[in-house]
Amino acid sequence: TPPELLRNFCIIAHIDHGKSTLADRMLQLTGVVDARAMRAQYLDRMDIERERGITIKSQAVRMPWALAGEDGVTVPYALNMIDTPGHVDFTYEVSRSLAACEGAVLLVDAAQGIEAQTLANLYLAMQNDLTIIPVLNKIDLPAAQPEKYAEEIAGLVGGDPDDVMRVSGKTGEGVEALLDRIVRLVPPPQGDADAAARAMIFDSVYDTYRGVVTYVRVIDGHLSPRERIVMMSTRATHELLEIGVISPEGIPTDGLGVGEVGYLITGVKDVRQSKVGDTVTNAGKPASTALGGYADPKPMVFSGLYPIDGSDYPVLRDALDKLKLNDAALVYEPETSVALGFGFRVGFLGLLHLEIVRERLEREFDLDLISTAPNVVYDVTMEDRSVVTVTNPSEFPGGKIKEVREPVVKATILAPSEFIGAIMELCQQRRGDLQGMDYLSAERVEMRYMLPLAEIVFDFFDQLKSRTRGYASLDYEQAGEQAADLVKVDILLQGEQVDAFSAIVHKDKAYAYGVMMAGKLRELIPRQQFEVPIQAAVGSRVIARETIRAIRKDVLAKCYGGDISRKRKLLEKQKEGKKRMKTIGRVDVPQEAFIAALSSE
Ligand code: GDP
Ligand code: MG
Repeated sequence: TPPELLRNFCIIAHIDHGKSTLADRMLQLTGVVDARAMRAQYLDRMDIERERGITIKSQAVRMPWALAGEDGVTVPYALNMIDTPGHVDFTYEVSRSLAACEGAVLLVDAAQGIEAQTLANLYLAMQNDLTIIPVLNKIDLPAAQPEKYAEEIAGLVGGDPDDVMRVSGKTGEGVEALLDRIVRLVPPPQGDADAAARAMIFDSVYDTYRGVVTYVRVIDGHLSPRERIVMMSTRATHELLEIGVISPEGIPTDGLGVGEVGYLITGVKDVRQSKVGDTVTNAGKPASTALGGYADPKPMVFSGLYPIDGSDYPVLRDALDKLKLNDAALVYEPETSVALGFGFRVGFLGLLHLEIVRERLEREFDLDLISTAPNVVYDVTMEDRSVVTVTNPSEFPGGKIKEVREPVVKATILAPSEFIGAIMELCQQRRGDLQGMDYLSAERVEMRYMLPLAEIVFDFFDQLKSRTRGYASLDYEQAGEQAADLVKVDILLQGEQVDAFSAIVHKDKAYAYGVMMAGKLRELIPRQQFEVPIQAAVGSRVIARETIRAIRKDVLAKCYGGDISRKRKLLEKQKEGKKRMKTIGRVDVPQEAFIAALSSE
């Protein structure tokens, strides 16, 4: 298809404002998916997306759409639509999708109005110079207030409130008119058809049967089946076994030209050969410079991931390699723990990302995993000026520390103005610093805070929701670091440190953490032949203490006078039980105790 007849657009919105549902109607109206095959949120292909009702991965689909020109002659266009996730953890997915488009449909729920991620995604689209088409969705809802929110949107993106389109992804009302408008307003892609081929890899997935499937957007030139291609960052060359468009499944074509979006298959099985952000060119006529690529996303939260069955370690390593292909934000390196054995320290964009990765590893690779309490990254400057980056609390340095720095975020909270007081109180408890406040309308306010990431990443959003009866929305972005009074709390069993339970917390919260953890372990660790003290300590100073009392009789006591075979059986049983025990110093701790102590919170 020549570029004049192509339109590449994405749908961006706050979570639940109806992106995937609108995408469904478009798939149906354009005939890409027929009524029989249709199911809600068609493009949410992963089980986990369907169960949770959220989009995690962006999806590209090509749809035909005919529109009569000024002379009345019908012109067949091809639209490439990219559905994107809305959650703050997946902004990185969104920004890659935006780079493959010229236009963005900015969707706003007509019963909710603008929310925090509406703003965040709009700013991303503006940074990418996309043409923005503002649209109000869910106009079928009785609670919809299209007039009011059209004003709000026009105030934000400019233009006339009457030009804000009104649709219902549920009933399909207004969706044809929206497709027409996309063709009219979104500029066709521009590129040099005669130049050496350059295509940007914006995603890739591993398929058990076909190997790596790479998703690309062609910027210049043309890629054809059977020719040899080069991945510019690694210089690796491959034969293009298949190339095509996705509509809604892969359809092989005789190539992809300027502005086209599609997939390619080289038969490569090694996931590292197809890197998101890399440029694909032609081996016979290679481009001299690669495309810009994407900035590597910076993981914000780290956690240890360990197989419950130690022999699964190689499976876990292989699974992480495969997931990484599909999830550029994932980073990991091997780690060992006294308590948990061999595993990985894994970096994530946020807690939802952690949950999703863990769940995908368990489901798609049949693993049973335990994850340690998540933490952010700290920079520790020593008196001698050396700097240590800490991604695992147990590696927090001893010795003379000059300063500890923690990551901070710029948070944007949108809420009805009646909740200002409640929000301020919460943010103060979390060491927040109010930067500014604006009224979007008489009753809706935007508050901007600087907050330590560690304070926001765990239960902040739940707290915010419950204090605002669900009306507040939150978005945040990284905003550097600040010095803070942070200490490491260690947990000791009989004087031996248990690495998996160390935590870095603010000085004022150290005591509460120590008491909570020591209390939990006292409940979870079975009694031993001897007394076991549990201590929480900051450096050499003990801040909390519990004791597990000794059992009086040993297991053989009840067999006195009994027959010898029963005695032996008991001993063997005890030995088996020991296998699943970890020994910390002299103390036997069942692995379940670690799991229970780490998981509940
Ligand atoms: P996304 O997170 O933006 O992809 O949102 P979804 O498409 O998953 O929709 C979120 C919820 O809103 C789902 O329960 C949809 O059924 C519902 N929904 C989406 N569009 C409409 C609409 O036009 N009208 C009504 N009444 N509900 C809608
Ligand atoms: Mg969705």
